[in-house]
Amino acid sequence: MKTIAFIGLGNMGGGMAVNLVKAGHKVRAFDLSEEALARAKDNGCETFATVAEAVAGADAVVTMLPNGQIVKSVYTGDVIGKAPKGALFLDCSTIDVATAREVAGLAGEAGYTMVDAPVSGGIAAANGGTLTFMVGGSEEAFAQAEKVLEPMAKAVIHAGQAGSGQAAKMCNNMLLAIHMIGTCEAMALAEKAGLDPQKFYEISSKSTGYCWSLNDYTPVPGIGAASPADNGYEGGFASALMLKDLGLAIGSAHDTDAKVPLGEHALEIYKAFVEAGNGGKDFGAIFTTL
Ligand code: NAD
Repeated sequence: MKTIAFIGLGNMGGGMAVNLVKAGHKVRAFDLSEEALARAKDNGCETFATVAEAVAGADAVVTMLPNGQIVKSVYTGDVIGKAPKGALFLDCSTIDVATAREVAGLAGEAGYTMVDAPVSGGIAAANGGTLTFMVGGSEEAFAQAEKVLEPMAKAVIHAGQAGSGQAAKMCNNMLLAIHMIGTCEAMALAEKAGLDPQKFYEISSKSTGYCWSLNDYTPVPGIGAASPADNGYEGGFASALMLKDLGLAIGSAHDTDAKVPLGEHALEIYKAFVEAGNGGKDFGAIFTTL
């Protein structure tokens, strides 16, 4: 049993913290939201009034926060220097590679071990303990991190040095955005060309068009695999979060002079969709614009 501080008990972090409790760990929780804190308390976490109090005495600190700016301010303001020396830090938020490397460097200089460990899988996977973690950090850091992440995970994969987990996450989600838009376009075209969409699904999901968006998350109501499309595009992976992830990928592409024309176009498509008031809809709802 370890003592683990958990900061950020939102849609994802709330369920993740509970899975650490179920695995027998002592979880010291903090969130700015009273409601999130109360839920964590009901689920067996010990709750605290500040980050600094939550990380005191912790063997490991897990963070699941909205963005890089917040991650940096929480670590530099309230975690580094407040958690016991030698504690392991695991940031599971999705943030930019540069900030992930910067914060890991600051933690290392202060005598801590840190990994970036963003996740693939949504709220259901967070609740069910079936997330995929992509971990950036040294071999030794990964070995320690794997043990902490295991109760929340379907898979824990070492991506490389600090920041590599975030690099894997943004590239994966840029690819996901592109094949989701492609799937929506193909489904809409099939229908307009007089083909039964169900037939197109049956054929393409067993042909070279197969991909996760088509085969496992079909974005058309009543067709193919069950997905948020069957529920009015409620739940699932919000378009606003996809837009955030595309912003991280395109920002990195600009910084590194990588050419990502389809990634840039995907960002424009999701930006327009979110600005039209659809940020809360599942990202497969792009189908409704076609
Ligand atoms: P969320 O907004 O539901 O939760 C974030 C939580 O952080 C909130 O409860 C908020 O009160 C808390 N918070 C904000 N600032 C804080 C601070 N300074 N100190 C303590 N708590 C603070 O977001 P989420 O959906 O849980 O996402 C969290 C992270 O996971 C994001 O980086 C997101 O991109 C990533 N992610 C989300 C999903 C998803 O499907 N929701 C999937 C994969 C990755």
